[in-house]
Amino acid sequence: MTMNKQGRPTAPGTVEDNELPTISGDRGLDHEEGLIFELGRAGMTGVDVPEVQMSETRLGGRRRKGPIGLPGLSEPEVVRHYVRLSRMNYAIDSGLYPLGSCTMKHNPRLNEKMARLPGFGDIHPLQPQQTVQGAFALISELMRWLTTLTGMPAVAMSPKAGAHGELCGLLAIRAAIEARGEKRPRILVPESAHGTNPATAAFAGFTVDEVPATKSGHVDADALEAKLGPDVCAIMLTNPNTCGLFEPRIIEMADAVHRAGAYFYCDGANFNAIAGRVRPGDLGIDAMHINLHKTFSTPHGGGGPGAGPVVLSERLAPYAPLPLLMHDGNEFRMIEHADEASGGAKPFGRMCAFHGQMGMFTRALAYMLSHGRDGVRQASEDAVLSANYVLASLKDVMSAPFGEGPCMHEALFDDSFLEGTGVTTLDFAKAMIDEGYHPMTMYFPLVVHGAMLIEPTESESKESLDRFIHVLRTMALEAKDKRTARFEGAPRLSPRRRLDETAAARNPILRWRPKDDARQAAE
Ligand SMILES: *Cc1c(COP(=O)(O)O)cnc(C)c1O
Repeated sequence: MTMNKQGRPTAPGTVEDNELPTISGDRGLDHEEGLIFELGRAGMTGVDVPEVQMSETRLGGRRRKGPIGLPGLSEPEVVRHYVRLSRMNYAIDSGLYPLGSCTMKHNPRLNEKMARLPGFGDIHPLQPQQTVQGAFALISELMRWLTTLTGMPAVAMSPKAGAHGELCGLLAIRAAIEARGEKRPRILVPESAHGTNPATAAFAGFTVDEVPATKSGHVDADALEAKLGPDVCAIMLTNPNTCGLFEPRIIEMADAVHRAGAYFYCDGANFNAIAGRVRPGDLGIDAMHINLHKTFSTPHGGGGPGAGPVVLSERLAPYAPLPLLMHDGNEFRMIEHADEASGGAKPFGRMCAFHGQMGMFTRALAYMLSHGRDGVRQASEDAVLSANYVLASLKDVMSAPFGEGPCMHEALFDDSFLEGTGVTTLDFAKAMIDEGYHPMTMYFPLVVHGAMLIEPTESESKESLDRFIHVLRTMALEAKDKRTARFEGAPRLSPRRRLDETAAARNPILRWRPKDDARQAAE
């Protein structure tokens, strides 16, 4: 049996689990097979391409000398390989995905249909502007929704993820500070912040100064005020914060930040808790990214695509990056160069080659228009209701550090209920996989020990939540009873068991190398 460093089995179907290993190595519908390169063999191909008559090459010494090493397989073999791989994945389309902070909600199929309309799906960013007026109109309408929902006057559409939006916001803030002839090297980041916040600040060349949390899980507003000074450029604060709590002193904090001549950046990844209910502009926020892929539903995870538009206050609006979308009364125009910009615009530069993620803009606007303003608000309210239902239903058996409630859109637990049980936080998470659930966000936020952050979102029915709650309650009670069998070596039923994730992260094997001359396969 293969064991990892934690002494856990990594292979499925071991005899120890009282299971007779199968002859094939497969388990029912879960197939075991090698990488596609290992399956491929010489002389096999899925396509029938006519022999090419080699004409005189114009590549000179750059002409390829060896085969390119594509695996040789027939079409049905390729299809099966990828379908089998997809079965090893968990997806929001297969079950509840309670990953806190990630807003894994249902992605309405209507969005997909709209994004595939040829007028949106098939256009090219280098097309003449007169031929994409409809796409510009769509972006403009989405900008109107975003500025209206946030109560902010301007929005930069091009950032391609939340973290990219954070960078955009900080660069706009830096441009504004430099325009005042000042240098402010320090950024304040609460200790409960998402890792991207300090990483962005450091990447943009600032030093990061941590603001502690209070016992109730909020940002310590007094500690924040004490840290403010003429060298502070901005604070980056998340609201609702990563403990799933609304910051009650946010306006007071914004005032203090502004009095010190600094800017207030808000991480808006948790906008799904407040969209349609709270306008961040009313809280004194100067810049905030919105994760369209989270709040406004686009399939996400696994690396993208994402879209992180940044709404900007009056004071920061002039520094919004290129390109700028303008309407001259007649038609839309993308301003691509700073010297073409009018109305006092002083763009700090640009974030990416083109204008952003058109496919995601289309999905987000489809989501907004199909919900309507009242529907967006209802979705937020339901997301908060679901999280409170989970919190209230589990806090007597799982420990909730800030459990007096209510919470916003996510329920935070810690691992003190597992103390002395012999079951670790990781065991608990892995056992959820056997029950058919993706684990919640683990060990984040860092302000509590062994955090377990559950974000059920509004798209789960009460029946689905009840089933989930029943599973977690039973697991928690069994652990407390020291009935630990379910947790030992979990997951038992997944295609892979407990992998050595640390070794995988430290020594990643990023390139497949052929063992023999399998490279000849396709050619
Ligand atoms: C998801 C998230 C981010 C980063 O967004 P990406 O689109 O993944 O770059 C930042 N902050 C919080 C609180 C988040 O949940």
